Amino acid sequence: MYYYYDGDEILRGPFSESAYAKWLANGDIPHGKEVYNLDFKSSLVEDVVRQLYKSRTKVMFCEESFSMDKTCDRTDLDITLLLENTDSYEQSSDDFTQIEEGVDEIDRGMISEKDMARTHLQKMIDIYFDRRSLNNQRRHKYDHFVPFEYPWTRCFPYIMKLSDVMRGAVHTLNQLQCYDEHDFSIYLETLNIKPHQCFICQKSFPNSYRMLEHFLSVIHINRAYDADTYMSMIDINSTVKIMNDFEIADRKQDCYWVKTNGPQEKKKNILFDVVDINTALESMKSTVALLGAVPLLRPPSCDNSGGTCEYIEFILLLREFEAAYYATSENVRDRRFGANSETKCLYCNLEFDATSLKLFTQHLFSEQHIRNSLQNVVSRNEMEYWIAFLQGLGNRNQLTYKTNSVSLQEGDFPLCYNLVDLVPGDFIYSGEDLNQVLNFVRKQVQTSEIILEDVEYHTSCRWCHLELRSRNSVIRHILYDKCHTDRLQFISNDDLRRFFRLLEIQVTIPLFRMSFSATSKSSCMDSTEKEKHIQRLQNLCYRVHKKRRTPQLAAKSFPFGLVNRCDLCQENIEHVDGILAHFCSIKHTEVLMNNFRMTIFDFDYWLEMFNVRSHAPQIFYF
Ligand SMILES: [Zn+2]
Ligand SMILES: [Zn+2]
Ligand SMILES: [Zn+2]
Ligand SMILES: [Zn+2]
Ligand SMILES: [Zn+2]
Repeated sequence: MYYYYDGDEILRGPFSESAYAKWLANGDIPHGKEVYNLDFKSSLVEDVVRQLYKSRTKVMFCEESFSMDKTCDRTDLDITLLLENTDSYEQSSDDFTQIEEGVDEIDRGMISEKDMARTHLQKMIDIYFDRRSLNNQRRHKYDHFVPFEYPWTRCFPYIMKLSDVMRGAVHTLNQLQCYDEHDFSIYLETLNIKPHQCFICQKSFPNSYRMLEHFLSVIHINRAYDADTYMSMIDINSTVKIMNDFEIADRKQDCYWVKTNGPQEKKKNILFDVVDINTALESMKSTVALLGAVPLLRPPSCDNSGGTCEYIEFILLLREFEAAYYATSENVRDRRFGANSETKCLYCNLEFDATSLKLFTQHLFSEQHIRNSLQNVVSRNEMEYWIAFLQGLGNRNQLTYKTNSVSLQEGDFPLCYNLVDLVPGDFIYSGEDLNQVLNFVRKQVQTSEIILEDVEYHTSCRWCHLELRSRNSVIRHILYDKCHTDRLQFISNDDLRRFFRLLEIQVTIPLFRMSFSATSKSSCMDSTEKEKHIQRLQNLCYRVHKKRRTPQLAAKSFPFGLVNRCDLCQENIEHVDGILAHFCSIKHTEVLMNNFRMTIFDFDYWLEMFNVRSHAPQIFYF
């Protein structure tokens, strides 16, 4: 209820929002007019009306009805569309006598609707649409979700029965038809919703407005339900979100979105777009081996959280996954992809047989797994990785197998040749150390983000007489195949540095990164103490560096020789000789002095290395 001042500065009211809506539409009250609520806080009349308008178009569902814990048949969800209030508004909005008498049935209805908590789903959909363009910039392929375009299969949550969808769609369609066709089309294009053919009805459209109008039509929705497939609450609530946002932009006369043409489709070729099925499978097997896990069967770890899916994004990506999977041929689904019969899903805490793609997807599409994934975090990179893999398999344009005569040995690939000579400043690991060094490398590779972006290699290993077709296959071979690792008598430090550069693996040590040991400010050192320690260390470093004894120091302090990055200065270190030089540099000293998070434990690492503490092990990890 709101008051306003009339032309004679006399306070009028209180009147309901719906009354103001009517007057504003008739021009009885001007735009920009201030109105006052019962606490006498002022707002613009448009804002008051917009609130009303928003809640009017909102389609709500009972939260309990899609509780995931319910084991009931999802096709029979008891969904209550709360459209009654809006209907009564439509019918009685002309009757203002009620307001004069102080009885405002309309308002009472609106308040009870407003008081209802917005559903979890609608909140998630809002987040999804608000971030969609941002997320699209990070993805290999743009998100093409258009509400009501495609139906969903039974395994997805939030699917609806036909009669409920029809009620929602008809209501939404009525709303849509109030909009300007041109403006709304442009708005949809900014969301990357561009006109394209309806694949269910084989129909084309002049613009996005007409396309969405068709997707909301009875004929389209009926056809979608023909094949035991369903529309979803996600479709309805997404349309509501899009329309609400459009109304806000439209009413504010906010034309920022009119000027943008929407994001341009970028095309970045990844391995699976270009290779044949055998290479794709070989790459997938290698990747599973290198990661030590099947992508999507474990939540992303902290140090490998390149991006996680939001709630709705996950459901939509899973639908893309499903569509890509069903586009593959039957015999591909029986192929092995690197997982075994005792594959563990960390989301479900369950071991299952994942020897074939069919068995793997059976678990992935299970109600239990979808629920557990939704309650946890899922890596977007892994999701996109799988989709790209499956879409590649579904693509029947078989490429001819390319032969490339350059072997790993000829191509000078790291860890693939016998050392003849060492370059100055290099040193080798041998004997007992080899295993520890290889284990360290394997562990680093496991958490490397670049592993999910395999590339074509087409090479062979002369040592092992083996054809290899992707970079990950090569890496898996040289790190895990015994026939190959047995041949490695020595590993050169420079070779490993080269290998890490190739995979963009960064190795740092304490004082070259944020302190792990500094848990509270009180545990950190004060600046005099810090300065004393830094100077002492720099003296040691300088002496070693000047005598060119860095290789000797690094050889007995693995993995010091592999340090290639100072996180604090955001600087790469190209050569082993540069590590100590960087530590003594003015820039690094300044950064250390200004960094308050530093404890004595960070210095201990270095002191042990210089052997100035009593117990210095020959090889140690940080
Ligand atoms: Zn589409
Ligand atoms: Zn259609
Ligand atoms: Zn699972
Ligand atoms: Zn080999
Ligand atoms: Zn630095």
